[in-house]
Amino acid sequence: MKYRRLGHTDLDVPLLGFGAAPLGGEYGTIDPAEGERAVHYAIDHGITFFDTAPYYGRTLSEERLGKALAGRRHEVMIATKCSRYGLDDFDFSAKRVEESIDESLGRLQTDYVDLFQIHDIEFGDLKQVIEEALPAARRVQQAGKARYIGITGLQLKPLRRMAEAAPVDTILSYARYNLMVRDLDELMTPFAKQHGIGLINASPLHLRILTPSGAPEWHPALPEVKEMGRQVVELCERRGKPAPKVALRFCLDHPYVSTTLVGLATVDQVRQNLEILNESTDIDLLSEIDELVRPVMNQIWPSGRPENHDYN
Ligand code: NAD
Repeated sequence: MKYRRLGHTDLDVPLLGFGAAPLGGEYGTIDPAEGERAVHYAIDHGITFFDTAPYYGRTLSEERLGKALAGRRHEVMIATKCSRYGLDDFDFSAKRVEESIDESLGRLQTDYVDLFQIHDIEFGDLKQVIEEALPAARRVQQAGKARYIGITGLQLKPLRRMAEAAPVDTILSYARYNLMVRDLDELMTPFAKQHGIGLINASPLHLRILTPSGAPEWHPALPEVKEMGRQVVELCERRGKPAPKVALRFCLDHPYVSTTLVGLATVDQVRQNLEILNESTDIDLLSEIDELVRPVMNQIWPSGRPENHDYN
């Protein structure tokens, strides 16, 4: 495993990080014992960065991760989140942020997290996120309950506006840099680089669109994007390369992103994804995919308050 410094923090994170949303059953019911084996297998092979949230499985992901990490906490870095608790359940108040960390620490069976992130900020009033949630998160850090503070979301402009208004250590962006969307490098990477902000790229498989199982029922992408995903999967199959591997390899080649978070819940998936680290990029296939995807490239879905949308 290769590791990269996460912005100006002192965290060296693995290029491939463990996304724990599936551990909470976000992509369907899982076998918790298998989830636990997946966590152990990942650590044994150098995947030492785990991202979870109270929102994933409505606390189930944190609980399962905490149980799996018992006795191995010192080997890993844990990132969790606050302020999102349900599909439409957000609370960016200072009081909730400070309560939230204690609840998360209890479920994760630890007394600190490495990264505490304000979850999906585009759903909040940015003034409140900047003036209440962020200072509260900094107090959590000062109390020693979190080593660093970050923000997450789909919409890049509010993430950037917020990081301009108040310093943050990391930004987690999802579904903005993969085979189907590439505008991270236009809207965020140069800014993050200039300010030494750690950049985390999540959802390299476009929330399962780029796998043979296809998009889950709740996937918010437009039907034409899902259909295009199916065509990419087929094209990769015809070329004898599994689409998840091609998609993940593409993301791992990013020159600035410190870690790419892929959702995992089975040993087999961890093993397959680890194999990609030693495989080379198929430039010709990537050109074919670019050509195919062009009509829907960079089409994201509405998320959050209309005033926080990137493309109004
Ligand atoms: P993803 O693109 O990583 O896709 C995950 C899905 O792909 C899961 O169903 C998983 O089982 C499947 N998968 C993984 N490897 C596979 C393989 N080799 N073959 C076939 N299927 C495979 O999407 P994601 O899980 O939503 O994103 C990754 C992680 O990033 C999340 O778990 C979460 O930790 C984080 N994330 C954060 C935010 C946020 O903060 N707002 C948003 C999205 C994701």
